[in-house]
Amino acid sequence: MNRDLQGRVVLITGGGTGLGLGIATELGLSGAKVAIASRKEANLNNGLTHLRSRSIDAFAVVADVREADEVAKAVDSVEARFGPVDILINNAAGNFVVPAERLSPHGWTSVVGTVLNGSFFCSREVGRRLIQQGRHGSIVNIIAAYAWTGGAGTVHSASAKAGVLAMTKTLAVEWAQFGIRVNAVAPGPVETEGASRQLWADPDERERLLAEVPMGRFGQVEEVAQAVHFLVSDGAGFVTGATLTVDGGESLPHARLEVVDKLRKNPS
Ligand code: NAP
Repeated sequence: MNRDLQGRVVLITGGGTGLGLGIATELGLSGAKVAIASRKEANLNNGLTHLRSRSIDAFAVVADVREADEVAKAVDSVEARFGPVDILINNAAGNFVVPAERLSPHGWTSVVGTVLNGSFFCSREVGRRLIQQGRHGSIVNIIAAYAWTGGAGTVHSASAKAGVLAMTKTLAVEWAQFGIRVNAVAPGPVETEGASRQLWADPDERERLLAEVPMGRFGQVEEVAQAVHFLVSDGAGFVTGATLTVDGGESLPHARLEVVDKLRKNPS
């Protein structure tokens, strides 16, 4: 494997599970020292066991990204262990399907707090330190394609991800002069344990969702992780404010696909 991230220090929020753990593994196998942060020690311990079993230099810190002071302490402890953070991946999120009129203020605040506030608190903490230290760095925000379109059933997540998209572009411009690149990855449906449980637990719903993906399958965790790897690599040195969509075409208009398929079967 290409060790192009040798010695870089990476912080991944929500890095103990699902896509976060996949990203941690990809970047760790590329030579990075990997710190993972989330609320539940059990998730972090499982993540650490996995990462260390792959000989990755890994460290975990408990932090709720909704709390700015916990974020600051988490970054302090990563610095104490590995040195200054070079790369931040804002991956932590919560989500569940609910009609908007039934979403409680607590549900709204919790998801928006994790996704939008959390991504800003972490970016601010890492960005501020990079600027003070005069060091270059890279941030990748994990969003979702419904940041552009809205997402019926997930008004909290869609609104928060749209905010993170705006934040990505804003910070990309503000921090370009400091050599800090800020980009986003928008995954389509990937069968992580968290997403499957919260978003398509019903088998019919799962099938319906899959039918909306022109490539006809779920994405793989590794496919998202490799997109993140590209964006944090030196090969993307002139890329900032961009979003790399990794969704098998799900977010592209495909209303006429059925008609096209019918015509293919009956060419005359
Ligand atoms: P997941 O395994 O449920 O990941 C969510 C992670 O966020 C967990 O590790 C969780 O750990 C952490 N987290 C939640 N609230 C937190 C908080 N307040 N503070 C710190 N950490 C917190 O789900 P996933 O599918 O891997 O999703 C990862 C990212 O990909 C999310 O941003 C999601 O929106 C995005 N995404 C996923 C899909 C998909 O189909 N899987 C599609 C589009 C976008 P703790 O519980 O330990 O805190």
